[in-house]
Amino acid sequence: MDRSLRANNPENYNPDGTVKEGPKRWKKSTTYLKTQARLAEIWRKLSAHRRSLIGRMVNETLRMGNVFKFEKLSYRALQGVFGKSVNTRAPGKYFQELTRKAESAGGKVLKFPTRLKVKGTETYVGLSSYCICGERKKKSLSERWHICSCGVKCQRDLYSAYLACFVKQIGQSDFELDAGTAARQWPGAEPLLQAASGHIPNPRVSGSSGQPCKGTEGVAAEEGIAKAEAWDGVAPSPGGGESPGEVAVVPLRTPQL
Ligand SMILES: [Zn+2]
Repeated sequence: MDRSLRANNPENYNPDGTVKEGPKRWKKSTTYLKTQARLAEIWRKLSAHRRSLIGRMVNETLRMGNVFKFEKLSYRALQGVFGKSVNTRAPGKYFQELTRKAESAGGKVLKFPTRLKVKGTETYVGLSSYCICGERKKKSLSERWHICSCGVKCQRDLYSAYLACFVKQIGQSDFELDAGTAARQWPGAEPLLQAASGHIPNPRVSGSSGQPCKGTEGVAAEEGIAKAEAWDGVAPSPGGGESPGEVAVVPLRTPQL
């Protein structure tokens, strides 16, 4: 298309090939117009396909619970790490759709900040560096497991998601991490998380392109007993908390990243 434009409109270009400034008329050949229509059709299909994939993923997510919590993350920052793939995968659209559908179904979506106050203390922690025993240790992005001297060992994203289950909204935009309850319920959740850890593929860690980005963790869903039972027959998902009174721990990654 560019070649065709140039061939048909040489007067619109500078000698160095750049487009001249100011108002211009563009002559478009029949072939150009045909190609333009074909290209528009390709974009249209791509966008429809993406919408349907996101819709499917949102529905899968909605089967896991009715309260969804995730860390506020900047899609611009994701773009820095993943480049164009963010445009084609549209993670923001996923969260937008999830929020819309969850809320219209009576559910809730909570966005909490990446630094959280630990309940009963004045300490602020990030989910990925915090352990239920109180230990704090920053992990590099390539460290995919949370291994603590207290004996806790868990795949990093799952562990953050587990902690996110205990993030409670205490004010308009205030959140805190109920670390005490998280620690008390850990023995019950551990086998579940261990089993789910096996389902998580090891992300590529070499180079910068394949690295999982900070902020894609700490996503969790929880649901009440009645809901869990109602959905039992629909889709038993690995990691979905099925024991009564237990918190469902559902790991989610930013769409396809
Ligand atoms: Zn620990």
